[in-house]
Amino acid sequence: MNFTKFPRRQYLQGETPIEFLPSLTRAIGNDVNIYIKRDDLLPGSAGGNKTRKLEFCIADALEKGADTIITCGAIQSNHCRLTLSWSVKENLDCHLILEERVAGTYNKEASGNNFLYQLLGVKSIEIVEGGTDLMAVMEEKAEVLKKEGKAPYIIPVGASNAIGALGYAACAEETMNQLNNMHLDIDHIIIPSGSAGTHAGMITGMVGINMNIPITGINVSQSKEEKEEKVYKLALETAEKLNITGSIARSDVVCFDEYVGEGYSIPTDSMVEAVKLFARTEGILLDPVYSGKTAAGLIDLVRRNHFTKGANVLFLHTGGSPALYAYMDTFR
Ligand SMILES: *Cc1c(COP(=O)(O)O)cnc(C)c1O
Repeated sequence: MNFTKFPRRQYLQGETPIEFLPSLTRAIGNDVNIYIKRDDLLPGSAGGNKTRKLEFCIADALEKGADTIITCGAIQSNHCRLTLSWSVKENLDCHLILEERVAGTYNKEASGNNFLYQLLGVKSIEIVEGGTDLMAVMEEKAEVLKKEGKAPYIIPVGASNAIGALGYAACAEETMNQLNNMHLDIDHIIIPSGSAGTHAGMITGMVGINMNIPITGINVSQSKEEKEEKVYKLALETAEKLNITGSIARSDVVCFDEYVGEGYSIPTDSMVEAVKLFARTEGILLDPVYSGKTAAGLIDLVRRNHFTKGANVLFLHTGGSPALYAYMDTFR
């Protein structure tokens, strides 16, 4: 795939590691080998998947002459933390619109990403109710800032547009190169599916390089049908941007919604089990909202014999561990 046509900053320092997880593999059992790709170790304050997308989104902002970034997310948003972090690095102002998706859960004094917004010097935070049209609020904010002489640029929730998804199309290629170098035959890839840029980018990249490894998304919100449509639509847009000639089939997009629980960011027992298991077998920190629920899906799929015996399964760890500190009571 050719990424040279797009503005791109270089935030990555080479490939993120792919490792075998022997103790976790033994603990889960059922003859499935678990591997992990460590996107939790990406650069940017406290790591995580948004850095790959922001290489493209922030480069686009800079090319358009922006001096200010506006973005949005949930109240404990890793995306907001990383967008702020890279804005600081690039000398851009950063304003956040935070959606209180679960009523009454916003606490100005909360730990986790919320604490880091302040530490990283956010310019402003506006809290809006769950279900608010976030793009409309960001556009209003942009108008206000323009009147103050600023040049704002809006990055959508999760940086999940076709620009941001390029980062995960590039990740598919990076992953395949690593697997070839390791001569590691992976049968299945498991990833979280939230605002969909990660999943859509990986699908696009996979088709773009003829990778032929099934990818399953584990939903952290929404139903299977809604999420698959969202991922598919974004994958088509991303493929068009990259001029990919291979076609993306609707059936390439597979999501499971059994692990969401009561809703986005609401803890589940299987998430707690997964977070503890990864920590206590491999010393790897997951998070309560994304990677914890995704790992819960992975563990359940292994136990339910979803994979063939002896299969090699790669889990994409997208980061998020700062949110653990906002959920300490859940794990005690
Ligand atoms: C944003 C996020 C995801 C989901 O990625 P999307 O591209 O929004 O689907 C997964 N894990 C973590 C830790 C995240 O912050």
